[in-house]
Amino acid sequence: MNSGGDDHALAARLAHDCGQRLLDLLRDPSVPQGWGLETAGDRRAHEFLTQELARLRPGDAVLSEEGRDDRRRRLDAERVWILDPLDGSMDFGVSGAWSVHVALCEGGVPAAAAVAVPAWDTTFATHPPSRPTMCRVGRRRIVVARSRGYSDGRRLAENLDADVLTMGSAGVKAMAVVRGEMDGYVHAGGLYEWDTCAPAAVALAAGLHASCADGSPLRFNNPRPHTPGLVICRPDFADEVLEALAQG
Ligand SMILES: [Mg+2]
Repeated sequence: MNSGGDDHALAARLAHDCGQRLLDLLRDPSVPQGWGLETAGDRRAHEFLTQELARLRPGDAVLSEEGRDDRRRRLDAERVWILDPLDGSMDFGVSGAWSVHVALCEGGVPAAAAVAVPAWDTTFATHPPSRPTMCRVGRRRIVVARSRGYSDGRRLAENLDADVLTMGSAGVKAMAVVRGEMDGYVHAGGLYEWDTCAPAAVALAAGLHASCADGSPLRFNNPRPHTPGLVICRPDFADEVLEALAQG
């Protein structure tokens, strides 16, 4: 049962408010640093999002990186919220490369989503869609995961006329494309749906290309919540990027 209201606005509000709570945690001197901080951030963000969804959308199923997967319930559900309460948690308290992902899927496709990047003081949502705010000239820029700088980075640098950079957090990388800072984000290895769902939904709503690494459409709420690679880029760049990946 949907208790009513605008799912786009709810996704944006939850992602933003969760980001603010995480910023409050960083300012709290009683919270331990290091691993303790990361664990506290994951837990507090998960609790906030799931409690709000239980209150406001009690009939919907939830898949969260930090929660137990009630697979039967979510596979039977028409509406499933897919959450990464703190994406890039290794950077939490270290740099601004962390984000909050909130997405609603209906029938396996995103219906509403938001990604909050508190370090940029910005929450990107599906409605109203985000528009580029940064204007760049010069060589095209692709961003990849730090863990894939060698595999994806080398392949793209060899096969594409573009500079390749690395950055933390799938959400931050994807939103760097949405805001026009990067021309594409590529991850040729597997990811979880909580990494990909909200960023891809926001990118698609912004008019960008978003697909699996082989170019096939993204589908969510799969029995195994796994995405076989991700490409988010300007639509006029998609064929070149997908070809470069196919060249291996
Ligand atoms: Mg996380």
